[in-house]
Amino acid sequence: MRFLLQPLLYVWAGPASLIGLLLGVAALLTGGRAQRRSGVLEFYGGAAAWLLRHAPLVGNAMAMTLGHVVLGQTAAGLDIARRHELVHVRQYERWGPLFLPLYAWLSLWMWWQGRDPYRDNPFEREAFAAEELPPGQVG
Ligand SMILES: [Zn+2]
Repeated sequence: MRFLLQPLLYVWAGPASLIGLLLGVAALLTGGRAQRRSGVLEFYGGAAAWLLRHAPLVGNAMAMTLGHVVLGQTAAGLDIARRHELVHVRQYERWGPLFLPLYAWLSLWMWWQGRDPYRDNPFEREAFAAEELPPGQVG
């Protein structure tokens, strides 16, 4: 049944994927590489690595998900982060264009409550929890 739904999920998460694709192309033009894993386009190296190291709020992340696009610093880092990032892909499929504003709002809300805006964000808590599950049980 999911194969019927999948094209719609790509469209629903499309606005964020488009941002990811633009950054991915920038990565390719600056020496980065691309690969496809689990229906997701991954870019690493080049501008993607630079962005993850230097962009404000990202905080030297190993990887970052934008719809069906994942940016990573290195291929090895993407392997380590894949389980976590695939949870974010499923979250984009659930929330579509609402995901990024909701994510930002929840981070701000956590910060306002004196909690960690990253680790206590419910989207991150779900992704970190999935890292603890045995293989094959991710969303
Ligand atoms: Zn995360």
